[in-house]
Amino acid sequence: LFVAFEGGDGVGKTTQQALLAEHLRARGRDVVVTREPGDSRIGPQVRAIVLDGGELDPRAEALLFAADRADHVAHVVRPALDRGAVVLVDRYIDSSVTYQGEGRGLGREQIAAISRFATQGLLPDLTVVLDLDESARAERVRRQGYVDRIEREPDHLHERVRRAFLELAAAAPERYVVVDAGRPPEEVAADIAVAVEKVMKA
Ligand code: C5P
Ligand code: MG
Repeated sequence: LFVAFEGGDGVGKTTQQALLAEHLRARGRDVVVTREPGDSRIGPQVRAIVLDGGELDPRAEALLFAADRADHVAHVVRPALDRGAVVLVDRYIDSSVTYQGEGRGLGREQIAAISRFATQGLLPDLTVVLDLDESARAERVRRQGYVDRIEREPDHLHERVRRAFLELAAAAPERYVVVDAGRPPEEVAADIAVAVEKVMKA
């Protein structure tokens, strides 16, 4: 079972990933918790380059994320799925489609095509989109004192990214669950657990 957590910065992807891992492990499942960019062999270097604040050409940035994803799928995600583990990934293809395709204006379809190449077409069984309105999201990011690139991005970029996530979910509802992330973490986690159990039974 392959589950991706998606949504803007500050919506709680990492927190919900950890809560779901705990929930599934308590039920005896072998769970692999991983993230993009970062958990491939080139992940640390890709993060350093992309997040260092320098102005990288958007196409170069998109290809670096894709390179990280290719190695991550080949060496982490596929092997784990092959041995029967549940894989929970913090960001996947949809982050590229929304941030680079929509946000950076490179075109959603072109970015999706690069990701298909990188992943050899591996899609999550379920993508959890954590949805939060922009003012709440921005406030959370401020409170947490993010030092990421995101602080430098104009608000309208986040609005477009949010809308793009929702559109991706609406286009393939059988592979997505959209969760209201503006509630206490345990409530959000409970909704996610129900959606995951539904997919596991199917
Ligand atoms: O989710 P995480 O904190 O690892 O993301 C690090 C930064 O990279 C965030 O600011 C996020 O918005 C950005 N990012 C991006 N394009 C992606 C993935 C992440 O701009 N495809
Ligand atoms: Mg996170």
